[in-house]
Order: sequence, then structure tokens, then C-alpha cells
Amino acid sequence: MYQPEFEAMPREKLTQLQLERLRNTLRHIQANNRRYTEQLQGLGAADVKCLDDLRQFPFMTKEDLRRAYPFGLACTPQSAFMRMHMSSGTTGTPIICPHTPGDVKQWGEIVARCLTAAGVGRDDVLQITPSFGLFNGGFGFHYGASALQTMIIPIGAGRTRLQLQFMKDLGTTAVAAIASYPLRLMEVAAEEGFDFHTETKLRVGIFGAEIWSDEMRRRIEEVMGIKAFDIIGMTESGGVGMGIDCQDRSGIHVWEDHYLIEFVDPNGVEPVEDGAWGEMVVTTLTRQALPLIRFRTRDISRVISREKCNCGRTALRVERIACRNDDMLKVKGINFYPRQVESILLRHPEVGHDYLIEIDRVGGADQMTIYVETENSGNAGLAQQIDTELHNLIGLHVDLVLLPIGDLPRPAGKAMRVKDKREHGH
Ligand SMILES: [Zn+2]
Repeated sequence: MYQPEFEAMPREKLTQLQLERLRNTLRHIQANNRRYTEQLQGLGAADVKCLDDLRQFPFMTKEDLRRAYPFGLACTPQSAFMRMHMSSGTTGTPIICPHTPGDVKQWGEIVARCLTAAGVGRDDVLQITPSFGLFNGGFGFHYGASALQTMIIPIGAGRTRLQLQFMKDLGTTAVAAIASYPLRLMEVAAEEGFDFHTETKLRVGIFGAEIWSDEMRRRIEEVMGIKAFDIIGMTESGGVGMGIDCQDRSGIHVWEDHYLIEFVDPNGVEPVEDGAWGEMVVTTLTRQALPLIRFRTRDISRVISREKCNCGRTALRVERIACRNDDMLKVKGINFYPRQVESILLRHPEVGHDYLIEIDRVGGADQMTIYVETENSGNAGLAQQIDTELHNLIGLHVDLVLLPIGDLPRPAGKAMRVKDKREHGH
């Protein structure tokens, strides 16, 4: 562990620390930002006697943060900012997250914990493939690896052939990436006859920023010869590194001394019980420039356990994020998530890593077509089989179009899995 005094803190002590830090955060907001204080409807530190008291506070949404563009909810003067990042994948007004030097230090610490949990240390060589820019990924891994004095290869996004060359020539042992990027690496490696097992020393992959299924994880681990770890965190929470799964792989540990996590009804306001699926709501306990109080992430997960893990950490364990509330698709009145489709597709070894779900309205009715790449695109039996499995899982029949490998577009950055051509989306 990087900070065992916090990562393995007994629950009672942890709860006490959280309460103290929550009150400090509320005092910090009250002292420094009138607008933010009003948004909390007059509630503050004095109203919090125990952690459950947080439930009286209003939720905060992405929309609140957008309306506050650029620094309307910041709780330190701009002269105290050291850097900023911007949330990706949104249209319209961006969400800006400023960081003080203290915030950057906190960020480095939580990512260092994540890297350590994944087995990355001082002797490793970490190739950082997310971009170094407005997106927080590149810098987050940079600060974490710097804290550990791990050698960094700050290559950033793209340049897949150079990525492979560096992996081989510079002795890369660990790679950090957006979850769909390993697929590009694997694809180019296949084209070049590059074998990760014999040509590299890779042993760890740390992937996040996108929803990726267990099936996808198995494929990546097999081809790249690595153990792959799922890391969570978002621009709004201060960046990547809010939690990661450990070697025991029995859930994602969330660093609770920095983040207070609740799960609530995704379509309502009521808390859900441990074990039940809900929307993850984040309150930051140590962030200075832009603290969050009850921020609705739209990510759907659930509590696995609050007990001590086999790895020794006591930090709360949550399920890998199953879906983003906004990603839910509704076709012919049936709700489902893209990851459910992915898990069916990737169970078939003949199916390539890329797929596209296209939804359209034809003659007043929804029509769903799934494009998948396969080496044997004349295989009608495969299409039939997948259709049956999808029907069993989500209750829909789909048109399945088998394409040769390489036929679907490969966008830079996050993968495109869904194309909804209907006028209003749903
Ligand atoms: Zn653990």
C-alpha cells in the first residue's frame, strides 16, 4: 500500500475522519463562495452531526457545474489555481475543474495509491497513453507515477506504432490508457506481427474513462499478457484515481478518506441499500478549488462490501461501473445498456473487438442494427446465434451485419459504440 495508515484505516476511525473532513469542506465553501452556499439552501457544517446528515443536502448535477462556467463555484481565488482540466464527451458549455497546489498533491497521492494497488512501483516503466491536455488522464497518471518515482514515458494519445516500438525498446512494464485503446494496440500489433508476450516486458494495464465489460478485460489480458485494472474518477471529482480494483479483484476500492460515496435511485432521490444498483453520488472531502457536495455522476454501480478486503484495505468496494445512466438505450420500449450487448458479442472468439450499435426509425418503428467485425463474415450461423443470445438477454431481435475486420471506423480518443439516428434519441 502507498498510504496504509489511510488505505487500511479501521472503519470507525475512517468514519470519524470523513465527518471531520466533510465539516471542513462545508466550512470552506461557506467561507469562500456565497453562490455555492446558497445552492446548498442554507445548510452547512453546523447541520452535520453524523454522515447521514448529508442526506438533507441538495444534489449537485453536471448542469450546475456547466451553469457555473468557468469558475462560478470555485472556493479559492483564481490566483490560488495551479492548473485546470475540462470534462470530455459533453456538448455545449464545458465543465472546468481548477486545481490548487494542494489539489494536485491530493491527486498525485490517490493515483499513487492506485498504481501501487495494481502492483506498479519504482522499478516499473509506465507508458502513459491518454493525452496530456484538457482531458485529465495523462497528467493524473503523471502525478501518481511521479510520487512513486516510477519512470514515465509521456507519449500521450495516438501514434500506435511508436507506442509498440517504445514498449519493446524502452522496456515498458505498465501501460495506462482509455479502456478502448488497448484494442487499437492489439489491432496494430496483429497487423505488424508484434507479439506482446515475447517482445515486451508488459505485465500491468490500467484502464479507465470508459465502460468496458469483463469479456473485454479477458481479451485484453490474454492478448497483451497483462493483468488489467479498472480505474475510476472523473474531471469533476478532481481527475482519474478516485478508486481502482486491487490484486484480489473483488471490487473497486474507493479512497474514502478523500471521497464520500452514496448510491441513490438513478431516477429519484432516495438512497438505495448496500448491494442494490444505484447512481453513484460523490462528495469530495479534501478538494479545495472545486469541492463537490453530493455530485450525481450518472454512473451506475453498487456497494460490494464495507468490510476489510483480502488485500488488507478497508476502503469501500464498489462494483465496476456497469453503465452510465445517460447511455441507456430504449428500443421498441425496451431499456438496455450497450455493455450488455458487448458482453454477448465478445463471448464469441470469432467476433473482433469493434462493434457498432445503430438505431434508426423506419416506417415509424425502431430498428436496431449491430455491426460486428469477424474474420468469417459469411458465417450465417454466427449471426443467428448472437441474435438468439441477445433476444434471450434483452428481449429484442436485431439485424446483425457481419463485416470484415477493419471495416468499422476507428475514431481517435474514446470509442464510438452507439449511433442513434432517431430524431430525439429515444
Ligand atoms: Zn482489495
